Order: sequence, then C-alpha cells, then structure tokens
Amino acid sequence: MSIENNIKFYTEKIRSYGAQLIAVSKTKPNEDLLQAYAVGQRDFGENKVQDMTAKWETLPKDIRWHMIGHLQRNKVKYIAPYVHLIHGVDSERLLVEINKQAEKNERVIPCLLQVFIAQEETKFGFSEEELMAFLNSEEFESLKNIKIIGLMGMASNTENMARVKAEFEGLKSLFDKIKADIKAENIAMKELSMGMTNDYIEACEAGSTMVRIGSAIFGERNY
Ligand SMILES: *Cc1c(COP(=O)(O)O)cnc(C)c1O
Repeated sequence: MSIENNIKFYTEKIRSYGAQLIAVSKTKPNEDLLQAYAVGQRDFGENKVQDMTAKWETLPKDIRWHMIGHLQRNKVKYIAPYVHLIHGVDSERLLVEINKQAEKNERVIPCLLQVFIAQEETKFGFSEEELMAFLNSEEFESLKNIKIIGLMGMASNTENMARVKAEFEGLKSLFDKIKADIKAENIAMKELSMGMTNDYIEACEAGSTMVRIGSAIFGERNY
C-alpha cells in the first residue's frame, strides 16, 4: 500500500463514522507528508515542537498543524504563531502559558484538554475531578486567548479491546457532561480526539471526532 492509498482508505473509513483523520507524520520526512498532501490531506499531527516548526517552515502554508505530543511550557512560544490545534493540554500551568503566548501573537489558540483515561502510569492528563474543578474556576474564565474546543485521551495499551472501548466511552461521557454543564466564553465543546492505529475503530464507535493515525499510513517509525 502507498501513502496515497492509505490516506484515501483511512479518510473514507473514518469519515463513515463522522470523524476526521489527523495524519500523524512524526519522524517522517517532508516527502512522505507531500504524498499525503497530494491526495488532499491537510491536517497533520506532530509531537515535537522543533520538528513541527521545521515542517511548517518548508511545507505548504495551507497545512493545519496539530500538536499531539506532551508540550513543554518553554516551547509554546515557537508554535504559538501558527499551530492549528493543541491536543494534549494536561495542566493549568501549560494552559496559562499558551494563553500568554497567544496574546503576544494577537490570536486565540484552540486547545483540547487531555484527560487521563488509561490504567497506566505513563500517560499524561487531568483526572476528571481536577478537570471539573479547573473548568469551574475563575482562573480558567480569565484566559481569553485560548479556546477549549474539546477533549483528548489515550486508552490503555492493551489487547483487551473491551477495556479500551470502555475507556473511550468514559471520555465521551465526560465530554457530554462538560458540554452540558460548563458555560464560559472560552469553551465550546465540539471535538473529541481519540483513537490511533490500533484502536481507532473502538474510538470511532465511542464517538471520536478526530482520529490520530500514524503508522498505518506512513509505516513503522524508526526512532
Ligand atoms: C504517535 C501518536 C499517534 C499515532 O500513533 P500510531 O499508533 O502510529 O497510529 C497518535 N497520538 C499520539 C498522541 C501519538 O503520540
């Protein structure tokens, strides 16, 4: 299978569930991204600030860049001028820094809050309780240069797909609850970023709107 065919296949498949494909191009060279671009892919996910910025500088300007990795506060300034959506916002301090850099760039940066849903210690994110407390705080309301447009989560890395599905369904419930209960100007819940190569079907069935697929499109990564 070629990158072109993979893009076509996954775009159609994911669209059939009403979700959108984010092509995760981390570690891949510009040529690979351009092959995807040639068949219409415009949304790309990267997890390293330096790599994403280098690609943004050299590739077509209508590409929408999604930061999907763990973002360090001291690097927010590099992506603030151009990033389309930051998926993995996992702390108040990070969101405050994004707000500050967005203000400097005279823009509003769309963000997803990352929620910890896996039964693993290595994944980042808010717990449900932390998140609800934060969203109800005055500090949150005061952040005028960010817009929370949804949530992001990563399920456990397990063969137990029933558990994976249950974790995604839990995130969908939290998404619905926030959408119904939290009324602030800087929040408009519409995106639920969940699902990768090995669990995108479960994620789509649970209500994902953005699926982040890398290796199934571009092949295995060599780090
Ligand atoms: C690498 C990565 C992906 C894509 O993973 P694949 O298994 O290659 O599809 C998705 N989301 C995040 C946050 C990632 O870091």
